[in-house]
Amino acid sequence: MRTAEEIVRGMTLEHKIALCSGANFWKTKGFPEYGIPDMFMCDGSHGLRKQETGGGDMLGVHESRPATCYPSEVTMSCSWDEELIAEIGRMIGEEALCQGVGMVLGPGANLKRNPLCGRNFEYFSEDPFLSGKLAAAYIKGMESCGISCCLKHFAANSQEKYRFNSDSVMDERTLREMYLSAFETAVKEGDPSAVMCAYPKVNGVHCSDSRMLLTDILRNEWGFSGAVVTDWGAMNDRILAFEAGCDLNMPGGSAFMEKKAQLAVRSGELDEGCVDRSAERIIRLVTRSDRSIDEYREDFDTAAAHALARRAAAEGAVLLKNGGGLLPLDESAEIAVIGYMAKHMRYGGSGSSHVNPYRVSQPVSSFRSSVYAEGCDAKGNTDAQRLREVSGAAAGADAVLVFCGLPDSSESEGFDRSDMKLPQGQLDMIEAACEANPNTVVILFAGGAVECPFMDSAAAVLYMGLPGQAGGEAAADLIYGRTVPSGKLTETWPFEYADCASSGCYGEGKDALYLEGVYVGYRYYDRAGVEPRFPFGFGLSYTKFEYSDLERNGDSFTFTVSNTGDFDGAETAQIYVENPQTGIHRPAKELATFRRVFLKKGESARITAVLSDRNFSVWDGRFVPVRGDYRVLVGGSSRDLPLS
Ligand code: BGC
Repeated sequence: MRTAEEIVRGMTLEHKIALCSGANFWKTKGFPEYGIPDMFMCDGSHGLRKQETGGGDMLGVHESRPATCYPSEVTMSCSWDEELIAEIGRMIGEEALCQGVGMVLGPGANLKRNPLCGRNFEYFSEDPFLSGKLAAAYIKGMESCGISCCLKHFAANSQEKYRFNSDSVMDERTLREMYLSAFETAVKEGDPSAVMCAYPKVNGVHCSDSRMLLTDILRNEWGFSGAVVTDWGAMNDRILAFEAGCDLNMPGGSAFMEKKAQLAVRSGELDEGCVDRSAERIIRLVTRSDRSIDEYREDFDTAAAHALARRAAAEGAVLLKNGGGLLPLDESAEIAVIGYMAKHMRYGGSGSSHVNPYRVSQPVSSFRSSVYAEGCDAKGNTDAQRLREVSGAAAGADAVLVFCGLPDSSESEGFDRSDMKLPQGQLDMIEAACEANPNTVVILFAGGAVECPFMDSAAAVLYMGLPGQAGGEAAADLIYGRTVPSGKLTETWPFEYADCASSGCYGEGKDALYLEGVYVGYRYYDRAGVEPRFPFGFGLSYTKFEYSDLERNGDSFTFTVSNTGDFDGAETAQIYVENPQTGIHRPAKELATFRRVFLKKGESARITAVLSDRNFSVWDGRFVPVRGDYRVLVGGSSRDLPLS
């Protein structure tokens, strides 16, 4: 078999340049005369969106082939479970092999800078370390079955408004510590075959043209050896992009600037070596998955995939309140099921990550219930008659389950939310249920944080994010205690939108000014002393965990977690470093690492976490450890850290 370098040596300049843009919306070009296969790509990170017939599109408008819909990253991430996420990556990879897909366009490692970003559901966290670790786990899982992963959107693409033409403007320290850091971990630990460059400019330079991002940092500093693919339509200037190290222009079919690139090589303006290197990287990318697809002989196990989706939805759900220990409910309890979303759950996101699932388990059919009231319509509107039905249904039940959340139309790729509110009709529906019955549980579907004015009235609140196709069954598993909730928020929930650091500048004007610097999420709330509704890392359980016996041995910190409650369950221990505040403006504390552990009731585990220089560093031309007195804090949430 010839190497990519040998193949490229035999190609004409026209063909080399042509190889560097796709054949159509989803495929690369095959060149049988050189032994180069074509490769099919598709979204996305919580399930495949293979569009075979009809037009391709990047907004999920046209139908796609049925596939398993796993929980979106918003839900996956709240499990803090790298093994689970690697397993999801591997299963999506298997399904891709089966559907003849060589590369999956995901996962996304952009930071949740602001709760309104329409695409937050596709991203893991407001914390770069956690985002990077979870993305790396996903990538390793998927790539283990011979399919390529395309990590996206590199870089600083944390808002949808004006995404095609905005400029993400920030200081270098913010870029390095926050917006690049998640990609750095994902690249170094996950080793993806490809990275997708983002639409916006970063500090005045289009990502596709940025030699600093695509070569100096990504390849030379972080050791990335794969191919760079443009986001769909993100190519700015083909000649600058070749020089920058941007390899594949997608979607294909337009021959954009190909003639100009040929002329530039012939006139000496563009070094042919840049074109050769791009062509070689694309050949390596397409041959890898081609071989895996050729060799794949299995039938995809849709039942196993559904079971995994169910487990992931349950693990990623976060119990926000459990007043009086109302949950778990006894399976024989008479319950009333309320809400349009009980029959039409929001299982996944909209836009390019929209999945057409094989099947969906709706909440209403996952609970044994005698009464149901719709309560509101698809948009969350209600009226007096509907509210009367809610009160009537709720009044006689042992417990009431209200299913609600953000309607499809309020969050998606392509635009940002206008506020953090649930529709008023849904809030009225919740209040009607709570007034009629004190044992009311709110089950919330939303791709991001929402304001929760019902926190005092509802007895219990369970946040399920966008839970994927098995969300209904997972809700029942949690409500009945077949699975003990263990999810923890990977994003801070403020009381109201005005509380968050970037609320004053986010989405104002065409360019995105990152004025809050490194003070994103808990880094801001902690430092500014703003009380969040739910802190980063927060999540309740039916059981109880206690922390004790922290010991230090050099860089290594060992402590005990004990399950002292009445249920078996999992806990994610979080280890933070509290920074000295001497001279350099720094967050009060930062997540250093985390460990998830499953403990039977009465069981304990000794956990060891090893910190590195990076945990004590600030970007100053490079990551430099800053001298001073640090405290290492350990516990179950960013605001509940009993050990230090
Ligand atoms: C999105 C990408 C996606 C691509 C192809 C773009 O609009 O930003 O995330 O992979 O479309 O659907």
